[in-house]
Amino acid sequence: MSHKPIPILMYHSIASMPKGTIMRSLHVPPKLFKLQMWVLHIIGYQGLSMSELEPYLTGRKKGRVVGITFDDGFKNNLTNALPILKKFGFSATCYIISQKIGGINEWDLNKGIDENPLMNENEIKEWINSGMEIGSHSQNHVRLAECDIDLATTEIEQSRVDLESQFDCSVRHFCYPYGSYNDEIVTLAKNAGYITATTVNRGRAESNTDTFSLPRVPITHRTFVHLFLIKILSKYEDRKVRKQT
Ligand SMILES: [Zn+2]
Repeated sequence: MSHKPIPILMYHSIASMPKGTIMRSLHVPPKLFKLQMWVLHIIGYQGLSMSELEPYLTGRKKGRVVGITFDDGFKNNLTNALPILKKFGFSATCYIISQKIGGINEWDLNKGIDENPLMNENEIKEWINSGMEIGSHSQNHVRLAECDIDLATTEIEQSRVDLESQFDCSVRHFCYPYGSYNDEIVTLAKNAGYITATTVNRGRAESNTDTFSLPRVPITHRTFVHLFLIKILSKYEDRKVRKQT
């Protein structure tokens, strides 16, 4: 039984940034994001949070679906992306850094990347109350594969515990900061009670992909309609995986 590969889209910030902005690719302008969501809708695809996508990833459901994920929990996910997601009836998962709620992207600043505010507690509540989902992106946005095991354990487990109690919701999806993980980190994520974990490895998920090392499809300010369709419908991203190894 063959299942269609499932793209899991990876977004960060949804904002228009001027030319010359460092790492401008991390910001997708709202107009382009809207066009991308419209394209999904037009070709009959449903955009889903990781919880809603999970039955497709494990082969229990079949259909035209993509995962929609936002890393880091930027405030502009709420202000700019949420109205568009709602317009198309899509859901999405935002990976929150549990100790940085209401803060800024401190971990980016030494790369010259501009400050970008993260959602505060009330904004995350609004995100959830609007039918969206949160996942964990650790407590402090650390490179887990480079941490000592006790610290990695705390970052993975405690972020889930803290988010669940702060927002009174279930947190079952993890995203490795910087895509930093190894077999040991996968085991920690499994033991912490997550059911999926996403990476920055490129490609579309297959029904036999390990749900703790899910590849994603990066979307940038240059992902115009033509490339967006190629990334979703063709083997374009899957080939990128092989190139990386
Ligand atoms: Zn991140």
